[in-house]
Amino acid sequence: SLLSRGVFNLKKIKKGNDYTLFFEKETNRLSHFIYESSNYDYLICSFYPEISFKKVDKNISYVERQISGTIESSLYISFSNNNFPVDLVNLIVDVFAWQIDFFRITPGDTYNIIYTEEVIDGEVVGVKDIKAARFTHNKKPFFAFSYDQGLGNDFFDDQGKSLRKTFLRSPLKFYRISSKYQKKRFHPVLKRYRDHLGTDYAAPRGTSIFSVADGKVIEARYTRNNGYYVKIKHNNIFSTQYLHMSKFAKGIKPGRLVKQGEIIGYVGSTGLATGPHVCFRFWRNGRQVDPYKQNDLPQGDPIDPQHLSAFNYVKEKYFERIKV
Ligand SMILES: [Zn+2]
Repeated sequence: SLLSRGVFNLKKIKKGNDYTLFFEKETNRLSHFIYESSNYDYLICSFYPEISFKKVDKNISYVERQISGTIESSLYISFSNNNFPVDLVNLIVDVFAWQIDFFRITPGDTYNIIYTEEVIDGEVVGVKDIKAARFTHNKKPFFAFSYDQGLGNDFFDDQGKSLRKTFLRSPLKFYRISSKYQKKRFHPVLKRYRDHLGTDYAAPRGTSIFSVADGKVIEARYTRNNGYYVKIKHNNIFSTQYLHMSKFAKGIKPGRLVKQGEIIGYVGSTGLATGPHVCFRFWRNGRQVDPYKQNDLPQGDPIDPQHLSAFNYVKEKYFERIKV
């Protein structure tokens, strides 16, 4: 197994994965062992002239697909009832994160999505990305078109405006909202009603917590209620705060400049908390507000005039196909 080092960890061989053994015709001795290490690659072990290992990528082909549907209860249920790839649910929720509250979907909402599927050996192995989408919520259509104006793919509406705000929607990549911003919430630890001025994101202990925007760390310390927490000032109007961390990320201390998406700490349950989660607090002009009710947050860059005709070409191509 020393020889396989750096190519493949033999301890990772899993029950249920396919393998093939090849024997020499004349001598019947084992010549090759081919193991499907994942959907994307396989491992070839040759026994002669000496044992060697090689990892080979499978050929991926990309196929454009289109799906549409009407929601009766939740987006997830609609997808699984139709046998649509559930990986796509996370992607679409991300695309429209600031436009649509997917926790308040109404029956009758509709969607139409064009996306790219990854296919290997004739089998679908995953979803690569979304090309264009329409989501009609409360009879109002929202559009998203993927376009790269030199800074990586981003999503824009039919007017070429960015769907992204200058803040990330949440400080975690995958999460479950366990408690929303609300006045007079029954506190699970204190057993009485108190205002809950943050949004709680439940996630496993140790999950990375990101800064939702560029800024400067102004507090990184411990208090009895907040546990280990970080507060970041983004500008003279906005600050954000992240409570109950298990620990800070390396180098996070007051004065440190952070980038949007930079890891500032890890999920924990220090302070007044029942289980691992981040209590995310959004400060505007010194008051804690519900970030999802701020309809005037600054937006990401729109399509640049020099990209406008190329963007319009892409947009028109997809618009016709998803508008109804
Ligand atoms: Zn909270």
